Amino acid sequence: MIELTNRLEQFIGEIPKVELHLHLEGAVPLETLFGFIQNRGNNKLIKNLENLKKRLVYSNFTQFIKVWLWKNSFITEYEDFEELSYQVLKSLSQQNVKYVEAFYSPRDFTLRNRKLSACGITESLIEGKKRAFDDFGIQSELIVDIVRDYGPRMGMGLIKELSGYLGRGLIGIGLGGSEKLFPAGFFTKVYQEARDRGFRLTAHAGEADGAKSIWAALNELGTERIGHGLRAYEDPRLIDYLRGRQIPLEMCVVSNIKTQVCKSFKEHPVKNYFKEGLMVTVNSDDPSMFDTSITDEYLVLIQKFGFSLAEIRKVNFNSIEASFMTDEEKDVMRGTFNKEWERLTSKYFEK
Ligand SMILES: [Zn+2]
Repeated sequence: MIELTNRLEQFIGEIPKVELHLHLEGAVPLETLFGFIQNRGNNKLIKNLENLKKRLVYSNFTQFIKVWLWKNSFITEYEDFEELSYQVLKSLSQQNVKYVEAFYSPRDFTLRNRKLSACGITESLIEGKKRAFDDFGIQSELIVDIVRDYGPRMGMGLIKELSGYLGRGLIGIGLGGSEKLFPAGFFTKVYQEARDRGFRLTAHAGEADGAKSIWAALNELGTERIGHGLRAYEDPRLIDYLRGRQIPLEMCVVSNIKTQVCKSFKEHPVKNYFKEGLMVTVNSDDPSMFDTSITDEYLVLIQKFGFSLAEIRKVNFNSIEASFMTDEEKDVMRGTFNKEWERLTSKYFEK
């Protein structure tokens, strides 16, 4: 039994993957973050990785945001951003992630550090991801998270400032932050402008707020995907709508448990959504802060929700479909995934 468990874990670790909901700042490997703290912070309380791990514990969403900003305060130079994207992509490539669409939130930094600009941060992240592609072959695109709390005016400013990077490493716009205090409707014009300029659209919704927030993201922002969508179950009409249009849900199960927007695995709707035919994808959100990984997220589906390997394969391929890749790129990716599934299945499960 133990042998089978190990084999399954290795298999899941090695399957090809696409990650669609990951915040670069929340995915920074702890060693890299510890390096930043030593270089920049002169923080006497964090003497080693254990101290750092203990700092990354939250009892609610508000506290999580506080720790988020604390961590960001050690990322202060452009070279840090280049290192950040390089190290995150390196760690993903070690889990055979082939393609990533990663969020970053430049305003979290530029408002607190006058040396930094959104363009400069974007360029540094692009530099890091180019190096990661050269070294590990991992492809990636950036999604700028305008963060609800900064309001629509600042969001509009970012869209205008950054649209020159579209097609050069930037692909879309996202909307994280305080979902209840800043409803999607505030950002209708920003999303309209973004769409007109060629940004692809996603928005966090149904994480800290309910089904009405998901409706708002769909109807008032015209978003193509929903970040989380956890609380869609509150409205059966919404479930029908999401299924009918196959609107992708960027689900992040461990994150939902750690921020306690969902109380337990038992209460999490991921298996029901999958069974009901919704377009479920598997993602890790802020893996370093939630002590998870994209591999762990797949294992959680098997171990906590009883997903079969055939079901895992389906959600695995869903992420290709749900991505912002072109149809041609998706075809190539599907071919790669098919080959690797075949190779790994015979390596691990056939004599
Ligand atoms: Zn997120």
